[in-house]
Amino acid sequence: MAESVELPSRLAILPFRNKVLLPGAIIRIRCTSPTSVKLVEQELWQREEKGLIGILPVRDAAEIKSVGPTVSEGTDSANQNTRVQGGSSDSHKIDTKKQNDVVHWHNRGVAARPLHLSRGVEKPSGRVTYTVVLEGLCRFSVQELSTRGIYHTARITSLEMTKTELEQVEQDPDFIMLSRQFKATAVELISVLELKQKTGGRTKVLLDNVPVHKLADIFVASFEISFEEQLSMLDSVDPKVRLSKATELVDRHLQSIRVAEKITQKVEGQLSKSQKEFLLRQQMRAIKEELGDNDDDEDDLAALERKMQSARMPQNVWKHAHRELRRLKKMQPQQPGYNSSRVYLELLADLPWQKATEEIELDLRAAQKRLDSDHYGLVKVKQRIIEYLAVRKLKPDARGPVLCFIGPPGVGKTSLASSIAASLGRKFVRISLGGVKDEADIRGHRRTYVGSMPGRLIDGLKRVAVCNPVILLDEVDKTGSDIRGDPASALLEVLDPEQNTSFNDHYLNVPFDLSKVIFVATANRLQPIPPPLRDRMEVIELPGYTPEEKLHIAMQHLIPRVLDQHGLSSEFLQIPEAMVKLVIHGYTREAGVRNLERNLAALARAAAVRVLEQEQVVPLNKGMQGLTTPLVENRLADGTEVEMEVIPMGVNSRDITNTFRISSPLVVDETMLEKVLGPPRFDGSEAAERVANPGVSVGLVWTAFGGEVQFVEATAMVGKGELHLTGQLGDVIKESAQIALTWVRARATDLRLAVDEGFNLLEARDVHIHFPAGAVPKDGPSAGVTLVTALVSLFSQQRVRSDTAMTGEMTLRGLVLPVGGVKDKILAAHRYGIKRVILPERNLKDLVEVPSSVLGNLEILLAKRVEDVLEHAFDGGCPWRQHSKL
Ligand code: ADP
Repeated sequence: MAESVELPSRLAILPFRNKVLLPGAIIRIRCTSPTSVKLVEQELWQREEKGLIGILPVRDAAEIKSVGPTVSEGTDSANQNTRVQGGSSDSHKIDTKKQNDVVHWHNRGVAARPLHLSRGVEKPSGRVTYTVVLEGLCRFSVQELSTRGIYHTARITSLEMTKTELEQVEQDPDFIMLSRQFKATAVELISVLELKQKTGGRTKVLLDNVPVHKLADIFVASFEISFEEQLSMLDSVDPKVRLSKATELVDRHLQSIRVAEKITQKVEGQLSKSQKEFLLRQQMRAIKEELGDNDDDEDDLAALERKMQSARMPQNVWKHAHRELRRLKKMQPQQPGYNSSRVYLELLADLPWQKATEEIELDLRAAQKRLDSDHYGLVKVKQRIIEYLAVRKLKPDARGPVLCFIGPPGVGKTSLASSIAASLGRKFVRISLGGVKDEADIRGHRRTYVGSMPGRLIDGLKRVAVCNPVILLDEVDKTGSDIRGDPASALLEVLDPEQNTSFNDHYLNVPFDLSKVIFVATANRLQPIPPPLRDRMEVIELPGYTPEEKLHIAMQHLIPRVLDQHGLSSEFLQIPEAMVKLVIHGYTREAGVRNLERNLAALARAAAVRVLEQEQVVPLNKGMQGLTTPLVENRLADGTEVEMEVIPMGVNSRDITNTFRISSPLVVDETMLEKVLGPPRFDGSEAAERVANPGVSVGLVWTAFGGEVQFVEATAMVGKGELHLTGQLGDVIKESAQIALTWVRARATDLRLAVDEGFNLLEARDVHIHFPAGAVPKDGPSAGVTLVTALVSLFSQQRVRSDTAMTGEMTLRGLVLPVGGVKDKILAAHRYGIKRVILPERNLKDLVEVPSSVLGNLEILLAKRVEDVLEHAFDGGCPWRQHSKL
């Protein structure tokens, strides 16, 4: 390669399309066109001593929008017909056979020596082809191009430098510097390639043995550069120009390798992992196919997409969902996040974005009928509901306040709400908010959390599957706030018509329109509901039922329902009114009817057992006069006469299939009550027993379960004059106790509790006040008068009346202030069998709410001052009053 080459003055020319052969490079050409085949045949194949041929670049017609005709110059392996035209100013134009055909050749080329030659014959055409391997030797310039026979020849001059010229250039400092620079870049390239391909050894040898100006050609020829750059390299006859050009190109190549390497490094780890996964998955799929166990994941996704399409989401939600679906499709089922993404999309597809139940034309009379048939009494409440429905009928999109039913458990709050839904023909869903302390319970957790899920509202809507249900927010007073956020503020957003058109659930992450939902809330007490939330609601109070009301409810509603729920009817079980009354008084002491219903259900269960027993026994006892019922017998223990009374006689004469219909019903009586429900839990004597000793008084309090009777016990013992309080008391009630004690001590002589003015009631003794039901927290000011009464009773050793209960807040000066929940308290007193109730005078107005049937059984005593209370609380009045200066 290092030796200089003698060039002939004329060379056969092989055109090289869009490519350049540089000196030092080796190429392989397959000649198929008649022209090139002829050239190779005559110049190389048939000659003993193979000569040189000239390789001259020609430009592809496609690259220069040629208007010239097509000339066949097939020398390349593809044997294409090429439209050829010179692109640069110094290219040759030559006329070919056809006058109009113009071919543009580059005017510099490279003489090449054949290294290998092979001949082939194509079948079946018999066409001869040659494959030639050529090595570029040196540049030449074309003086004249002509055709010999059918291929081209050119008169040329060598562009190679003579030995002396070369020696001169090598002395040139510029050349020296350039060649150093080139070599440095080349060495760098080699070392990079060595790392990559481990093939640097041979190239390094080249670097040491080949003159640098030739090296430039060899290096540039070894990597891919554009045709233009190849041409300009070919045209760089001056070694200095060639070196600087080559340095630039080698450097560029080096940089591109480095960049590529960086990128590869970055993606390599990932790529190889995912490639590995892909391969494994392909194998798994193949195995499954073999087993006939088709992977139906794709089907599932298609089904999901169909479901999403039919969910009629709003445009923005659809876009979001679709993006997520695309992401899901690219994931593998085993990939983390696949499942959560899928569950999320399932939720989006399941949510009722547009789906609504068609609201039936509201008929107010029918609604009233329905409310009446579902609920006994509650006249005012029903009236308010009818008004609410009427407004909705006139203005369907009216955004009135949210109805909130407040009352003790079991008074029918939930069932009223479901009646509203039924009258509107809407679906009903109950969302329990009791104990919700975390805002996320309402708004959901963001999807970034493990195990995240939507809030209760969105979950409820998914369950009910329509966007216009009646949603019951149950127990709104039981939400609390702590560090996990404030559920009440989230509820506020839900209930605010301005905001709930785009309710934002954290899990859902797209707005959901709640404006079509009708919200109804329930609570046991109003006071714990945060004021802003209370502001959005219209409160309807359900204070609890009188025993008479309970009896009606039981007879008309609960018993039929309970029987139905147990697969019974009045043909099998009858619960007489007297027995229901007994249950109400002896087994329940509640404001609502929940326990009553539970007790009735217990009776129904016992009856169900009996009926089944009968079914088994009848066929066996055909022909017998009596029936035994072992199971009920077990339950009823020794009450043998019970079943004798109720089991029909003579069933044996009927067909077995008619057994049930002909049986006379089981009638509940006291014995059965006691067997099934146990002995009565309450009787009227409790108060009398409790106040048998001095120091105990009967108070009335108000709790979440309605009104309650609350005893207060006081006792004194040797001590240092301290007051002890127990029974889970709050601050307010503790202060009431202090006030009561202070008042009693201050009035000790007036009340004849002390002989002289200076006597200290607490001299050498402690007082302990206890509120029984010690496990239940208690608070509030309304026990003031009860505390005073207990203390006076203690110090005077007089018993209070057991038939009298009291309520009222007191001031330090002895005034009695009004209290809340009067109706509930009076109902509670009535339930307890209390006959007299002492009330603050200013609570007189509240008595209108109390049913007259209750008031008729009670004596209401009004008190303005604490002395009035004492007057009423003790037998024969307060004996000390006449002497009092108060
Ligand atoms: P709440 O929601 O107030 O705790 P529910 O609505 O669950 O109470 O009522 C408990 C049971 O008592 C239900 O079966 C209900 O139908 C029944 N009930 C309550 N009040 C009445 C009433 N006035 N008339 C008929 N049934 C009633």
